[in-house]
Amino acid sequence: MYVVQTVIKTDLMKYSLISKLTIVMYHYVRPIKGSKFSGIKGLELDGFKRQLDYLTENFNIVSTEQVINAAKHSSPLPNDACWLTFDDGYKDHFKYVMPELLKRNLHGSFFPPRVAIEEDQVLDVNLIHHILSCADDLQQLVSSLNAHCIDQGISESRINAYYDEYAVPNRFDNADTIYVKRMLQHVLPEQLRSSIAEKMFKEFVGLDVAEFSSELYMSVNEVRELVNNGMYVGSHGSMHYWLDKISPEEQEKDIKQSLKFLDSVGASTTDWVMCYPYGAYNDSTISLLESFDAALGITTEVRVANLTSDNPFTLPRLDTNDFPQ
Ligand SMILES: [Zn+2]
Repeated sequence: MYVVQTVIKTDLMKYSLISKLTIVMYHYVRPIKGSKFSGIKGLELDGFKRQLDYLTENFNIVSTEQVINAAKHSSPLPNDACWLTFDDGYKDHFKYVMPELLKRNLHGSFFPPRVAIEEDQVLDVNLIHHILSCADDLQQLVSSLNAHCIDQGISESRINAYYDEYAVPNRFDNADTIYVKRMLQHVLPEQLRSSIAEKMFKEFVGLDVAEFSSELYMSVNEVRELVNNGMYVGSHGSMHYWLDKISPEEQEKDIKQSLKFLDSVGASTTDWVMCYPYGAYNDSTISLLESFDAALGITTEVRVANLTSDNPFTLPRLDTNDFPQ
């Protein structure tokens, strides 16, 4: 009896070990100190190199194909499997990340939103990061945002109510930073928040948005180069919407546009991976992904994934900040 139990226990342990997957999420990776945007919250290139040293010593970096096979066909993953994911299509990924991965013979997954690559636009989220990086005084930023809201006819009492509701710090940002982010990311109506973000970008950063777009994001050809060099390129939506805040019809349109973009850069549109912008999705999103032949969805829920017990369309990730840099 004792022996039988031990065998079962050992088998279960082995099973749970091979389905455990640490997914690491990256955004900006570049030399930051002394650069034009030295206040940007991102990963220093040297820190990235040290982190790759750490991860390759302590984990087995797996390819996207291995993860898809493990989720779909229960193919075993190596022990301490780790999958590297890079969001938002930054030029950093082409300029610094890909060469570093190639040098080490490692594989990464990249998720560029179509609009940032194909159009001369800057995602609101990136306008906000750069506004924040250039503002010495957060109070000044909050005042400017509130003044723009008042100009647009929003009452002071409404603004105070917004502040009370949204100025809630999280594990990375203080209350004022979160307030500015939330207001410009999704609280204000889309047209209004975009125009306010662009005005504040000019005010605090002093650059032209279209020009900045080509500096910040990869070109279509650079995304194609990622694919040609064996990297995985998946969907991060077309417009980088919070998918849970738009209708199923709008979600479908956005996902279809992003697949068309993936096809145009030579990336696969069967058994593909969706990286939800802001980690946001709902039941309609998952049904749409199933109907469009997606294999996996990755979120911003913070923990190690388990491919045996987790829904493949809602896989959690850890942040680069959760590991030594
Ligand atoms: Zn994103």
